[in-house]
Amino acid sequence: MTGLSDISIAQAKTLLHIKEIAKKLKLVEDDLEMYGKYKAKLPLSLIDERKVNKHHLVLVTAITPTPAGEGKTTVSIGLTEGLNKIGKQALVVLREPSLGPVFGLKGGATGGGYSQVVPMEDINLHFTGDFNAIEKANNLLAALIDNNIQSKAQNLRIDPRTILWKRVIDMNDRALRDITIGLGGTSNGVPRQDSFNITPASEVMAILCMASSLENLKERLGNILIGFTFDKQPVFARDLKAENAMTILLKEAIKPNLVQTLEENPAIIHGGPFANIAQGTNTIIATKMGLSLSDYVVTEAGFGADLGAEKFLNIKSQFAKLNPKCVVLVLTIRALRHHGGAKSDAYNIPSLAKVAEGFKNLEKHIENIRKFNIEPVVAINSFVSDSEDEVNYIIKKCAGLGVHAVLSEGWAKGGEGTKKLAAAVVDVVENKATQYKPLYSWKLPIKEKIEIIAKEIYGAKKVVYGVQAELNLKRIDRLGFNDFAVCMAKTQKSFSDDDKLIGRPKDFTITVREIEIAAGAQFVIPILGKMSRMPGLPTIPASEHMTIDKNGVISGLS
Ligand code: ADP
Ligand code: MG
Repeated sequence: MTGLSDISIAQAKTLLHIKEIAKKLKLVEDDLEMYGKYKAKLPLSLIDERKVNKHHLVLVTAITPTPAGEGKTTVSIGLTEGLNKIGKQALVVLREPSLGPVFGLKGGATGGGYSQVVPMEDINLHFTGDFNAIEKANNLLAALIDNNIQSKAQNLRIDPRTILWKRVIDMNDRALRDITIGLGGTSNGVPRQDSFNITPASEVMAILCMASSLENLKERLGNILIGFTFDKQPVFARDLKAENAMTILLKEAIKPNLVQTLEENPAIIHGGPFANIAQGTNTIIATKMGLSLSDYVVTEAGFGADLGAEKFLNIKSQFAKLNPKCVVLVLTIRALRHHGGAKSDAYNIPSLAKVAEGFKNLEKHIENIRKFNIEPVVAINSFVSDSEDEVNYIIKKCAGLGVHAVLSEGWAKGGEGTKKLAAAVVDVVENKATQYKPLYSWKLPIKEKIEIIAKEIYGAKKVVYGVQAELNLKRIDRLGFNDFAVCMAKTQKSFSDDDKLIGRPKDFTITVREIEIAAGAQFVIPILGKMSRMPGLPTIPASEHMTIDKNGVISGLS
């Protein structure tokens, strides 16, 4: 049990020097590029493709979440501690936190209670500068575009009204959603309407997460579609000779970061796209690095399994030829109460009836994971407000579906509280895993891929396309991008594109408003419903509760 805040638990930990953590992976000091005593970058030469598919990949995902998060990061870290406790060599691979949620509503992304990665403050704040590098590379391209429009000598005849490339900043700042730039006369650029996205939504982030090497990163950056000429010809970043300079800015950011868990196990943290508006998992490079260095790799995909896990399995694993052997579906009982109709003021009040109704949401996620030929294990992320009746109900209902559901007590007890979960995962990996299969092949037509996701994963009855989406499909076809993956932009609050349809909605229609192209990442991005790529701050942002004292000690970061 913990009455302490996440940050005070993290600060109480005496950290091991990072070279001691590296030793556990059979790495020597010379293999590391040290960022102080507790963080290091790992060179790409440590990736060993022969080991990648020999070792075991475990994906942690969740039911449809409430805004507080269901504890996927916490369970991922806890499970890694538990696996090590039962004698497996395991490490966790996670995404880097974004400053938007850190200062906004949700807080950091380094786990919670006694399942955390440390140094917590550094990881949640500027860490090793990867997000800054991504932001700079993104905004360099933006500056090159506007400079090209300004310059007579170099002009590519880009039609300013067709520019697709947006500037980014890692902050929740709604005032930047719709802006005008280039005002103030002829020396200040050509005025045009522009817009900022949050850094995790940058295509540079998506590209970094898909890239296999520095060369491949450069090629992908060159392939970014930025807009069209007045003659309707596509303009790519390579037409602006941008790809080398962008890659130069990312030469350190491409290397995964090594840190430690509270129980001194290795953790690799790298890349951070959100799962609702981007692909929602860490870099392929970091996953392969983990699998090169450790027998078991536990990794997390963002939001519910309809978003992060769907993309992890159809996009990332298919592309990188990974074979995830077990999926851990995290739930909190308060989220099941929510899906059963409880309002937020009743989330912490036990109700077997609400849990029974909310179970339908979990059941759909279980069915979905099995469509990929993977056996799920359900982790009940234990909260003090859970009743024994509710826990037993879930375990029994899951058993009826042939699924092992286990109480996960990593938040309160660290690895000691997740040994049972770890054993259940090992059982699936060692005895029940076969070859996973993606739900669609990238080779299918775009509309078919969208319908497979909408019908099979979301449970939609039909998909309709707005006028803009139909025009976008024609453009995708004209440019020859039909064999790109589909990276849906959808609310995380529902299986559907309507926030309010909780539980397991049926007979609904999915509306594709428009379809963007991320040619460097090799995705198309169907935008479902009202999705914004620049969040706003809540009325009382988390930043108001933070302090730093004269010694530089931070509090209120959660
Ligand atoms: P996710 O990765 O699913 O978004 P996190 O693991 O980041 O969720 O957890 C979200 C928040 O909930 C964190 O602040 C964490 O400390 C808290 N939390 C997670 N598990 C528990 C638990 N079992 N009891 C209390 N708080 C928890
Ligand atoms: Mg998380």
